[in-house]
Amino acid sequence: MPYGFHPPLEEYLVAIFELEEDGVTVIQARLAERLSHSPPTVSEVIRTLLKEGTVTKSGRGISLTENGRQKAQSIVRKHRLAERLLVDILGLDWHLAHEEAGRWEHVISDRVAGRIAALTSNPSTCPHGNPIPGTIQLPDDGRVRLPEVSVGKNVNLVRIGEGAESKGETLSYLFNSGISIGTTLKVSKPLKPQTMRVKVESHFVELDLNVSQFLWVVDVP
Ligand SMILES: [Zn+2]
Repeated sequence: MPYGFHPPLEEYLVAIFELEEDGVTVIQARLAERLSHSPPTVSEVIRTLLKEGTVTKSGRGISLTENGRQKAQSIVRKHRLAERLLVDILGLDWHLAHEEAGRWEHVISDRVAGRIAALTSNPSTCPHGNPIPGTIQLPDDGRVRLPEVSVGKNVNLVRIGEGAESKGETLSYLFNSGISIGTTLKVSKPLKPQTMRVKVESHFVELDLNVSQFLWVVDVP
């Protein structure tokens, strides 16, 4: 990274918000992984955020202050509404929407966000099942992470967490394997350690265990 370049602070607030949402304990190392930034860069940005009062630290743990949370929520809301617009109205495939929306989230005004919400029928989640802040809490429908499901069970995919969304190749892999929100997965015996194997209709799909952790599923009704 060139000297003097500071990655946008907003990106950090969003990353902290989304790590919390995925149930990950937020420490600098997790932020470095999520953002693919070097540990010194992360330390420097965290110092700036502490100074501006958008994050607090307790031990190694980092959390958002009320002010920081409001800023993060506003961007996450615009990101997820932009994804809805791209998929529902413009017809973009859902695995491509995350990256595109990453460019939109910083330029959409509150007024335009309101219009997108109206145009897309006030959605409660993005096309990947992540809740749009300001609409609903995640439903208490007994959803669990895919690795918690025992072999032989059928489940429906309800959410692809940001931990999986933030890697473009993961979304493409899921899309190309026929896995999207609502798909029924039958958990099968894994072939290799640190992987999962699921049956989708008549074919098998291998999933990395790290990715599977961010896939939330419910029992087939
Ligand atoms: Zn999304």
